[in-house]
Amino acid sequence: MIVELISTGTELLLGQIINTNVAFLAKQLNSLGFNVLFQSVVGDNRDRMGQVINTAISRADIIITSGGLGPTQGDITKEITARMLNRSLILHEPSLEKIKTYFSHRQINMPENNKRQAMIPEGALVIDNERGTAPGIICEYDNKVIINLPGPPHELEWMFSHSIAPYLVKKFGIQGVIVSKVLHVSGIGESSLEEEIKEFIVAQDNPTIALLVKKGEIQVRLTAKAAGQEQAIALISKLEERIRQRVGQYIFAVDDETMESVVGELLKKKKLSIAIAESCTGGLVSSRVTDIAGSSDYLIGSIVCYSNQIKVDEVGVPFQIITDYGAVSEETAKAMAIGIRNKFKADIGVGITGIAGPGGATDTKPVGLVYVAIDGVNDLDCVKYNFSGERTNIKYRTSQAALDIIRRYTLTIGGSNIER
Ligand code: ATP
Repeated sequence: MIVELISTGTELLLGQIINTNVAFLAKQLNSLGFNVLFQSVVGDNRDRMGQVINTAISRADIIITSGGLGPTQGDITKEITARMLNRSLILHEPSLEKIKTYFSHRQINMPENNKRQAMIPEGALVIDNERGTAPGIICEYDNKVIINLPGPPHELEWMFSHSIAPYLVKKFGIQGVIVSKVLHVSGIGESSLEEEIKEFIVAQDNPTIALLVKKGEIQVRLTAKAAGQEQAIALISKLEERIRQRVGQYIFAVDDETMESVVGELLKKKKLSIAIAESCTGGLVSSRVTDIAGSSDYLIGSIVCYSNQIKVDEVGVPFQIITDYGAVSEETAKAMAIGIRNKFKADIGVGITGIAGPGGATDTKPVGLVYVAIDGVNDLDCVKYNFSGERTNIKYRTSQAALDIIRRYTLTIGGSNIER
């Protein structure tokens, strides 16, 4: 069954509201196994809405519109739906009664305009709207269907969950299930990742693979369709295993996990403590670490050592290192990691220094140059990055890289050696 979602409303085209209805409907329909293959947005204009509905009729079995069922002259969805199906609009008395009751309960006179909401295409099924005045409409034709739902999200969601989903399942049968799993990837660029797993992308069928570039990470979404949940999960697991064989080292989380939640889990599991000295990130790494409830189990403390003086006085970076190599250098990052680890007697010390821009660059040290050092029971390590983008982007990418270094480092070591 091919589904097309049509969102109506000039506000959507102007970008004044975010189309949450379509996200809700697509998610719900997919989880019921219906294939949402088209989504359109059209303003409150008779000709253009007619064109969009006509196109949808030519390519979809189930068309669901949202919006435009209100009482004003601009609310034209039912009128155009009826016209495209060559039906006339007739008054639906029970709906009119309900609308009258709705207003009388609120002790308001029903505006004459609201009668429009009780007009329905001939032969349509009428769906109760317990959350508002506009009823939903189902027009069946040639074993296909056009469904008109109201625009306000709380009305649409209620109506879909209580009436439309059961109706669709009854009419078209169980469509199987669609299950998705998201693999979160960091430390490899989009094109390199694509190159590594190209073979699976080219051959994709079921499950399908989608790469989505997000802030500080790439998501690989695997989506499988099967008769039942277990079969779909099995299909995904098989492909996931093959992907992990290629790029497993870059996959840091799955589904709703985040970098900070995964790092937190690892530190907790290994009973390791951490201390962080942050310069260019201004405390962002520590902020993200502490977004996780229970982070006091592993984060001892942090210092935002923005000035050289604080790097020396509070973190213990030898002044000579800053003079010889500069504040943004591998040597300073390493000294920060050692210094903060010693100061807070932590298992792991992290030092972060870089140039977030837009100022501060030199011929040899461009904006985006970042060093992240980590010190612990293993050898002291430091990674150099050259990030591009504007200031907040560089700060975020640095925080992501630093957390990923902590994650990788933690994976390679045993538990704590420090008595606390
Ligand atoms: P009403 O009876 O309230 O007029 P309606 O069915 O005519 O409802 P619209 O007038 O199109 O619906 O939209 C009403 C409100 O619902 C919009 O102002 C907006 O706040 C919200 N809305 C409409 N469409 C969407 C959408 N696709 N996503 C999120 N919100 C929406």
